[in-house]
Order: sequence, then C-alpha cells, then structure tokens
Amino acid sequence: MKSAKPKETTAIECRRCGVCCTRHQAFVTPEDADRIIAYVGMTPAEWDEKYDDPRWKYSEWRLIRHINGACAFLTFNEGLATCRIHAVKPACCAKWQAGLDKTECKEGMLT
Ligand code: SF4
Ligand code: SF4
Repeated sequence: MKSAKPKETTAIECRRCGVCCTRHQAFVTPEDADRIIAYVGMTPAEWDEKYDDPRWKYSEWRLIRHINGACAFLTFNEGLATCRIHAVKPACCAKWQAGLDKTECKEGMLT
C-alpha cells in the first residue's frame, strides 16, 4: 500500500513575543469562565465588570476584554509575554500552537 505523504509541520517553539495576544481576543466558553473566575477569585459580576467585553452579545461564549491594545491578562516579564491566567487559560489559547504558518509568529520574529 502506498504510504501517505507526511504532513508538513510548521510548529515552532513559542518565542513569547505576545503578538497573538494583541491580535486576537480570547473566547471564553462557560466551562472556561467557571475555571478562570474561580482561579482569579472573583464573582461572575466582578468578572463581567473587569474582564468581559460587553460588545460581544452573540452567544453564551464571551470575549476577554482588551486593555491598551492587548488581552487584559497579558503582561511582560523581562521582555517575555506572560499570561496571568496561564494555568487556567481559555481552551482557544491552550490549543494555539506557535508556527511558521502564523502571521502573528512571523511578525514577532521581526521585533
Ligand atoms: S488569556 Fe492569556 S494566552 Fe489567552 S489571549 Fe489572554 S494573555 Fe494571551
Ligand atoms: S505570536 Fe507565536 S511566538 Fe509570539 S507569543 Fe504568540 S504563539 Fe508565541
């Protein structure tokens, strides 16, 4: 049997430039929200007040607010992007893989 051509990999090690966290707003599923709200020790109302982007009203999923052009949870530690909720970050962020196919990662290499 003819073997399938191996899928070309474009994965790279994350350079922690933080570009992805400035270009995108993270979606928060209800499960993500329960986990993150417990982690940050807030009530849901406090979460909405501080981190929820009120412009998104189209599904039960929510969007994390951007502050000063980046995700409210992005910080820099000695020049390296750091997620303040890394241990419980939204599923969409956990699935994100740095790669040469990503314009965000390529942009980060230029900085
Ligand atoms: S939650 Fe963390 S990983 Fe996700 S966009 Fe915000 S700072 Fe980046
Ligand atoms: S843009 Fe790519 S390299 Fe930069 S922090 Fe995001 S995943 Fe990592």
